[in-house]
Amino acid sequence: MVTRSRTVLAALVLLGSVGDAAAAEPPSAQGPAQSCHNPDALGVSRTIEVGGAPELGLKTYPRTLDLRDHEVVLTFDDGPWGPTTPDVLAALAAQCVKATFFLIGRNAQAHPELVRREVAEGHTVGHHTFDHPGVTLRNMSAEAGIEDIEHGMRVDDRAAGDEPWTGTPRVPFFRYPGFGDSPGSLAWLKARGVAVFGADLWASDWIPMTPDAELDLLMGRLRGAGRGIILLHDIKRQTADMLPRFLSALKAEGFHVVRIVPGGTATPTRDAPAGWSSETDRTLAHLWPKARAEIRAEARPVAPRAAAPAGDAAAGLKPSVE
Ligand SMILES: [Zn+2]
Repeated sequence: MVTRSRTVLAALVLLGSVGDAAAAEPPSAQGPAQSCHNPDALGVSRTIEVGGAPELGLKTYPRTLDLRDHEVVLTFDDGPWGPTTPDVLAALAAQCVKATFFLIGRNAQAHPELVRREVAEGHTVGHHTFDHPGVTLRNMSAEAGIEDIEHGMRVDDRAAGDEPWTGTPRVPFFRYPGFGDSPGSLAWLKARGVAVFGADLWASDWIPMTPDAELDLLMGRLRGAGRGIILLHDIKRQTADMLPRFLSALKAEGFHVVRIVPGGTATPTRDAPAGWSSETDRTLAHLWPKARAEIRAEARPVAPRAAAPAGDAAAGLKPSVE
């Protein structure tokens, strides 16, 4: 049984890797059959294999990847989306950077060519349910949540060209919509060796703002945190427009991008600092008293339904802003 304790962590084991110099790998070493032709690119500094089905990301869990100072992992949720994902991929390619995409199955089904492109360009393609429901899986039965998770994995892998479905995903990485996990689905994922990713920081890109404002917000948070798993949304135009300057800023300020891939051994993790509590718990507890119908009624008040991709923004989930 996985617990999400609100108790203060003793944090007796703060791993002392701060200040390590990242061991640079040439960007061309990353990705299948991908070479980088930009000698000034940001690139990828190293690759971490994630195994042992951990639950990671300080917004939700009391542990995260054991990143060094000034190391980041880039993750993009809710795609693929035709108008914006190609621009995100182009920006990443221009800087020889590899990211992780957590796909909504419905969107993968609609844009399999983009899923195949993500795979071909050496990115890691994980899963984010099929339907991305307006309520989180925490508000659903375990059976319904697991069905949505598995459906998404099956559809994502089919879009990537992997058939038939074997019962386990090609890449055993998953992120819950709105970070709303549940004990039953967590146990199901753990039994299948699936790593669950929350995030350490985000750009709040579900809130409309200019790319300049989003860049300032994200870089400010990153300077404060010093490292972390970053959540972005490749369905957001403001994020696609911000990304080239964000990658340039990472390089200018000495940050390194770490690629994550599935691996067989348990991944070293770093414990949350003393006093940690789950921001996800606080946010979802605020939403919890609302009836499902009320939350659904709030779910799509802004964008026209036909034009809005499935995603966190459409779901109306607004994790609290730092
Ligand atoms: Zn999402």
